[in-house]
Amino acid sequence: AAVVSVRDVEHTYGGGRGAESVTALGPVSLEIPAGEFLVLVGPSGCGKSTLLRLVAGFERASSGEVEVFGEQPEPGNQAGIVFQQPRLFPWRTVGDNIGLALRYAGVPRAERAERTAELLERVGLADTSGRRIWQISGGQQQRVAIARALAGGKRLLLLDEPFAALDALTRERLQEDLRTVSAETGTTSVFVTHSVDEAVFLGTRTVVLSARPGRVALDIPIGLPRTGT
Ligand code: ADP
Ligand code: ADP
Repeated sequence: AAVVSVRDVEHTYGGGRGAESVTALGPVSLEIPAGEFLVLVGPSGCGKSTLLRLVAGFERASSGEVEVFGEQPEPGNQAGIVFQQPRLFPWRTVGDNIGLALRYAGVPRAERAERTAELLERVGLADTSGRRIWQISGGQQQRVAIARALAGGKRLLLLDEPFAALDALTRERLQEDLRTVSAETGTTSVFVTHSVDEAVFLGTRTVVLSARPGRVALDIPIGLPRTGT
C-alpha cells in the first residue's frame, strides 16, 4: 500500500465573516509508495506548503481524502517534519534536542543516549552533541532538525524548503548527506523546493504543480535512480 495517498483533494482557506476565500490547491490526487523521494515544485503560491501541511496533519482538506500509512494524519504522529527555519531549543545542547524528541517518541530513557549518537552520526554531527544550538551554524542546525525528524523511527519525512536559507556550499553538502541518509534508511520523503537542480539531484520523482489553485501539471520519474550506499 502507498505511504501517502491523496485522493481528489481540494483546499480552501478563509471565507469566514465575509472574508474572501482562497482556493489554494486542487483537486489533486497522488500516491506515494514506500521508499520514494518525491520532490514537489511549482510557482510561488501554487499550494506546495498547503499539500505538505495536509499530509502532516496540520490542516484538514476542505474536500477529498488524505491518508498516511492508511490513517488520517495527525501532527507529529506519522511523519517527521523539517521546516525552512529549524525550530530547535536554542539554549539546549544538540544532544538534548534529539533526546527530547526521543522522549516524546516514547523511546525508553536507557536507549536514548545510544539512539542520539546514532542519529547525530547519520547527519555528520557526531562531535557536536555537547554544543548548544545557538553556538552552531545554520547548516548544522538544519542537520539537527533532520536528525530530530528521523528520531522515533519515522518512516516518512516532510521537508519544506529546508535548505533555502543556506549558502550554496552548505546547501550542496546537505543535499548530498540527505540523499545518502534517505537512500540508506529507505525513508519515504516529500521535499518542497523552488530549485530544479535540487529536484534532479535529490528526487526519484518530481511532481510539478501548476499555478494556484495547484494541480498536478507534471509527474515524472526524473532524477537518478537510487544506488543505495
Ligand atoms: P506555496 O507553498 O506553493 O508557495 P502555499 O501553500 O503557501 O503555496 O499557498 C497557496 C495559496 O494559499 C496562496 O495563495 C497563499 O496565499 C494561500 N494561503 C496559504 N496559507 C494561507 C492561510 N493560512 N490563510 C489564507 N491563505 C493562505
Ligand atoms: P534525563 O534525566 O535522561 O535527561 P528526561 O526524561 O528528564 O531524562 O529528559 C529526556 C531528554 O529530554 C533529555 O535529553 C533532556 O535534556 C530533555 N529534556 C527534559 N526536560 C526538558 C524540557 N523541559 N525542555 C527541553 N528538553 C528537556
